[in-house]
Amino acid sequence: MKKILIANWKMCNKSAAEALNFLNVLPSPQKKDVRIAVPFTLIREMAGNSLKIRIGGQNMHSYAEGAFTGEISCMQLCDAGADFVILGHSERRHLLGETNEFIQGKVERAVVEGLSFVLCVGETLEERELGETFDIIQSQLDSAFEDLSEEQLKTLGVLIAYEPVWAIGSGKSAEISQICKVHDFIKEKYPLPVLYGGSVTLENFEKLIQASSIDGVLVGGASLGAATFGQMIQLLPEG
Ligand code: PEP
Repeated sequence: MKKILIANWKMCNKSAAEALNFLNVLPSPQKKDVRIAVPFTLIREMAGNSLKIRIGGQNMHSYAEGAFTGEISCMQLCDAGADFVILGHSERRHLLGETNEFIQGKVERAVVEGLSFVLCVGETLEERELGETFDIIQSQLDSAFEDLSEEQLKTLGVLIAYEPVWAIGSGKSAEISQICKVHDFIKEKYPLPVLYGGSVTLENFEKLIQASSIDGVLVGGASLGAATFGQMIQLLPEG
């Protein structure tokens, strides 16, 4: 299976011109699976780029439409050119109060409207220290995928990103052995590609991407520089 490299630009300060300049200096990924999840305002600008890098959103609402000031619908993401969306990122779970139930609604919406997604799961440091890692991850997955068949998830190209909350933006990536234990646990329950996210840098990229239980990486901070992201594209194995 091809390894997958996804950038998560979060609420970065890139203007449309800066985002296009970023694409202009990247090496061609050729047939590699490279994607960038961008702020809403950049989707239309970046979708359909000549490098064939897939462009996605970082969030969407669970309702098809409605009076939800500041939110965006699945249809609007697709209309702008997004071909995937990140759901359940820990910054949304923990800083913005998104519950498993709300995320399940988003998953259902994406399935109904046929938009592929990356479901993020992961434990906090406190949960890890209490020995609750596997229970937390199982409950996040079971809730999100309630009533969905393995076939539906595979057809839609759903990915899971294991992102321990304590490793995100902290400069403290999880150990490969810790990551693989969790990935193997996830794959046993849901046989889908599982990416790792949490302080991935150019320094730890190759080791992570070579581990057989790690199907790809979701990169936040380190994906904002074109030189670094370009090197990651070059280091990503072909197939
Ligand atoms: C993320 O945004 O999902 C992430 C993993 O961030 P960082 O790489 O900066 O830790």
